[in-house]
Amino acid sequence: CGVFGVFGHENAAIVTYYALVALQHRGQEAAGIAAVEAGSMYSHRGLGLLADVFANGELDALPGRAAIGHVRYSTAGSNTVQNAQPITVRTYQGNLAMAHNGNLVNAHVLRRRLEELGSLFQSSSDTEVVLHLIARKQEDTLLENIRQSLHDIRGGYALVFLSDDQLVAARDPLGLRPLCIGRLGDGYVVASESCAFETIGAVFLRDVAPGEIIAMDAAGLHSLPMYPDAKASEEPRRTAMCTFEHIYFARPDSDIDGWNVHAVRKQLGRILAEQHGVAADIVIGVPDSSISAASGYAEKSGIPYEMGLVKNKYIARTFIQPSQGQRDLGVRLKLNAVRSVVQGLRVVLVDDSIVRGTTIRRIVSMLREAGAVEVHVRISSPPYRHPCHYGIDTSSKGQLVAADHSVSEICAEIGADSLEFLTVPELMSAFGLAAQGPYPFCNACFTGEYPTEIHEVDKLGNEP
Ligand code: SF4
Ligand code: MG
Repeated sequence: CGVFGVFGHENAAIVTYYALVALQHRGQEAAGIAAVEAGSMYSHRGLGLLADVFANGELDALPGRAAIGHVRYSTAGSNTVQNAQPITVRTYQGNLAMAHNGNLVNAHVLRRRLEELGSLFQSSSDTEVVLHLIARKQEDTLLENIRQSLHDIRGGYALVFLSDDQLVAARDPLGLRPLCIGRLGDGYVVASESCAFETIGAVFLRDVAPGEIIAMDAAGLHSLPMYPDAKASEEPRRTAMCTFEHIYFARPDSDIDGWNVHAVRKQLGRILAEQHGVAADIVIGVPDSSISAASGYAEKSGIPYEMGLVKNKYIARTFIQPSQGQRDLGVRLKLNAVRSVVQGLRVVLVDDSIVRGTTIRRIVSMLREAGAVEVHVRISSPPYRHPCHYGIDTSSKGQLVAADHSVSEICAEIGADSLEFLTVPELMSAFGLAAQGPYPFCNACFTGEYPTEIHEVDKLGNEP
């Protein structure tokens, strides 16, 4: 998912809309915006792309100088309008809206406890749990109630809250999900990715630190630690920032935690060429997310980059569609091989990841049908073997082709002449990190070493 917030701008809802357009790649199933003015909260949310959800003048009904917004793809909870965000409620301390990117690993435990205490839930998403926690806290300020509630939750989150007079943002203590802040005129903005700032003309200030809470109000921008008495200075705090944001999820023009996403991907491609090179005539990247890596591969290997695949711009991201049937069709609608480019040639095909294997199998056969004589697949990440519990995708292990297949089995299954992946140390070296670690990143989907406890849950939060 993607989140955004703005405080102190006369067209807060419109700014939020354009920022969310820049974050649309982070979720296409639902979208919503909440804005506040003079003690009243106004919101609109719905299923589909932003342009569809706000197609009929709904933005005009969202007045005020502060707003938050969300684009959703469902990791926890089904894709219904009840699960669209922001979620808005009235607490004894006033209006509160909230939007969440990520996934909480203890949401089902908290939810059961809250239900036993009498909480009534409207949705199946784990996000609502946080609001119920806040509503039960007894501190003097809403900000302090939010802070106390964050102590109860575990997992990956970038959260934005909007109250009658404040915008609050928080990033999980491990830094699993990205979040950054910027300046827009006299006001402030917060977003999942910095590309949203470019779109609205805001100036990037910095990333929100893991375990940091940011509050924006009439008095300006404040930072407070989630755990005020943490012994932060004594030992370097462990972080587990998501490498998959860099590999696939984020936009290449975003900077996350000091690294430009395109530059990282390009470096991954150079490392692929260096460590996993193969004789070939052309390099082709799978549009769009693999173009950066393919350009790095071409540069390092000296093999020319060619546009052997063309993407239909009007088809949304295939991965972000619930059923496998839709996904198979999606790949075919989305990409075409260019016969005049690939005919008679040996191709290095660079992609960022293999999850189920659907995409790459289809592309290999498309390239062969178009006349490629050899197709060598190089993946700019390690085999994706373990489900993510922090908000990227909760596909069960059975769907991950690398979970129970060796690299040579996958190679046979996708019909390639050869297949190689990066290793985790190679992946980490793209960030300038030493091979042996420890790394400040989460690589759990590759290694199975989760940085938090994991409670196995299905999509609706029921334990198996
Ligand atoms: Fe990112 Fe993988 Fe960790 Fe999930 S498990 S947060 S996708 S690195
Ligand atoms: Mg792709």
